[in-house]
Amino acid sequence: MVQQNYVGGEWVAGKTVTRDINPSDIKDLVGEYAQADATLTEQAIDAARDAFRTWSLSPIQQRADILDKAGNLILARKDELGKLLSREEGKTLPEGVGEATRAGQIFKFFGGEALRLSGEKIASTRPGLEVEVTREPIGVVALITPWNFPIAIPAWKIAPALCYGNCVVFKPADLVPGCGWALVDILIEAGLPKGVLNLVMGRGSVVGEKMLASPKIDAVSFTGSVSTGRAIAQKAVASGKKVQLEMGGKNPMVILDDADLATAVNTSVNGAFFSTGQRCTASSRLVVTQGIHDKFVEAVKEKMKALKIDNALKPGTDIGPVVDQSQLDQDMKYIEIARKEGGKVFGGERLNRETEGFYLSPALVTETTNAMRINREEVFGPVASVVRVKDYDEALAVANDTEFGLSAGICTSSLKHSSHFKRHSQAGMVMVNLPTAGVDYHVPFGGRKGSSYGPREQGRYAAEFYTTVKTAYIQP
Ligand code: NAD
Repeated sequence: MVQQNYVGGEWVAGKTVTRDINPSDIKDLVGEYAQADATLTEQAIDAARDAFRTWSLSPIQQRADILDKAGNLILARKDELGKLLSREEGKTLPEGVGEATRAGQIFKFFGGEALRLSGEKIASTRPGLEVEVTREPIGVVALITPWNFPIAIPAWKIAPALCYGNCVVFKPADLVPGCGWALVDILIEAGLPKGVLNLVMGRGSVVGEKMLASPKIDAVSFTGSVSTGRAIAQKAVASGKKVQLEMGGKNPMVILDDADLATAVNTSVNGAFFSTGQRCTASSRLVVTQGIHDKFVEAVKEKMKALKIDNALKPGTDIGPVVDQSQLDQDMKYIEIARKEGGKVFGGERLNRETEGFYLSPALVTETTNAMRINREEVFGPVASVVRVKDYDEALAVANDTEFGLSAGICTSSLKHSSHFKRHSQAGMVMVNLPTAGVDYHVPFGGRKGSSYGPREQGRYAAEFYTTVKTAYIQP
């Protein structure tokens, strides 16, 4: 059965269909999903505009109940959703179930936030007057999401958008429509009124472009690559839309001589290679001081040899496949570039498994300099490089020498260095003795420099993007 788009409270077929393929087993068809065209996208935007008139003024208890119920439904179905996620995206089953759980927690968090939105009452500079500052929804929001977190990223955009009274037109990534579809289905079951949330599955060049061109869209929240994000920002700003972008990373993990070796190895291997390295927060640059360098590299290689790369659904798999052929080609291309630049590559081999899929062993590139392309451009696969440095000062300089600024980590037992790194790292998120990837759902998420644009996502800070402020002056 072809799963349809959801527009104005109705399931709607598309003119074409996309096939959702399991990257662990390309003979396994996860599902077929209707593709929206520009006309259907326009209808979805109109439906959202209509619904905004009532949803923007809906009782906060109604919003809280729906979001909380959606969270409970997701949590009750976390195993099934996690399996769907692992089948369509390729992260391991425990990672898939973990991500589904997180999506449920996000909805429950924003169920609570709906009741906590507050404003300010401030004394006026003019005697006798009162001033109130309140937050209101921004309107119709276009949400454009990537393939690598197919349920968590839609959740952390849809939940705050609805919480603060906005209506949504949601476009999941082409490769992973299944989780987005399931999430919308759950929100309908949770009691969301017609038109408040619309699902349009389809190409960025069709659905995405239509959303950006529409004057009826007030804001765009995008997560994806830098090149797409920059193009979206230009179009969004040109038509006066509020815009929020979460993009790529080239996240440094600094390992100092005084680090606990086991912690350094575990955090680096986890941060660089888990979820097949397909995380915007992946530790793709390991910046290692010379006293621990050789010991660290050998221990990382030993740990890599023990990793099981196999079907994402197989018990015991540590790392699933790459998401598709084109990402696999990109990973292999960068491994080759690193080799040609003079890096020494360990791993990074195409693997065959029982089922036909896009399997690649993790790659560690040693003897690199920070000027090499492998250290400047995002690969988005299980590929990490090592830069040898003299001391902490050089490590900090190398860590910050990047156009990105999403997450940065340090492994050290020195309070002095960890405190200094926290203060001077030019990243939105800093991790001490922890992988650069792996964050809580109730605190802000986002980066600096080329990684992000606009207000932070998640936690209370999500209100910055999903609301607009009104200042009212009152003469009692
Ligand atoms: P992508 O940029 O190719 O696509 C992201 C989304 O944009 C998809 O839904 C796509 O269909 C849509 N899109 C493409 N062209 C468009 C257009 N012209 N107009 C409107 N929409 C368009 O990214 P991807 O390959 O899906 O995801 C991988 C990237 O996402 C990586 O760079 C990764 O670092 C980044 N990412 C960032 C974060 C973060 O929070 N910083 C989180 C996850 C992933």
